[in-house]
Amino acid sequence: MFCYCDFHIHSCLSPCGQPEMTPSNIARMAALQGYNIIAVSDHNTTGNCRAVIRAAAEAGIVAIPAMELTTSEEVHMLCLLPSADAADEFGKYVYERLPDIRNEPGFFGEQILMDFDDNILGYEERLLINATDISLQDVPALLAVYGGVAIPAHIDRSSFSILSNLGYIDRSLGFRAVEISRGCDPRILLENYPELDNMPYYKNSDAHDLYSMLTAKNGLELVEITAEEIIDIFKRGDVPNRLK
Ligand SMILES: [Zn+2]
Ligand SMILES: [Zn+2]
Repeated sequence: MFCYCDFHIHSCLSPCGQPEMTPSNIARMAALQGYNIIAVSDHNTTGNCRAVIRAAAEAGIVAIPAMELTTSEEVHMLCLLPSADAADEFGKYVYERLPDIRNEPGFFGEQILMDFDDNILGYEERLLINATDISLQDVPALLAVYGGVAIPAHIDRSSFSILSNLGYIDRSLGFRAVEISRGCDPRILLENYPELDNMPYYKNSDAHDLYSMLTAKNGLELVEITAEEIIDIFKRGDVPNRLK
């Protein structure tokens, strides 16, 4: 069956995510927009994933756990995880590799932990947007340990992307698919990086506010709606679009 999927959404736990990006608001907006599957991918944390999974179920859709990891090279990687337990474990691993610097909510924004019904459980005090000490080249094997997959995020962006920070994508690293920004024209990207010819890509919203969840509508053909199947599709690079 064809499913509309947005795997890159920030909740209010990301300091740059708007306070309106609560688990329940995200789930209801996604359901209203006709999405079947979503993933909240906050910066370097999976802290709101369980809440989003439950909120999505209440809204009649599916959420899978995710994170937007910042590597030591300041490259953003979209990471999809197979289960809430795997996400908890991966979240702990990443947290230990994040500098112990306190968030300044007045400057960066609040980092709000919530339950599925948008009750505030607490505030994450460590600033989540810093680079971890995890190197890009170690990311594919690291995600494999947790049963997940990593996808270079918004590769066309002029900062925090694999192309902006490294200048190229080494296919031997094992990334079989990439994410491009919702506003990216794939033909222009390919003109600038011809070596990306035939690279499978997926467009997510990277929404930090509810309005931005309206802007991307892409999907996958799935046999079953499970995180495992989605992870497998990205591992194989079996997404419908190619840079051509
Ligand atoms: Zn990013
Ligand atoms: Zn993002």
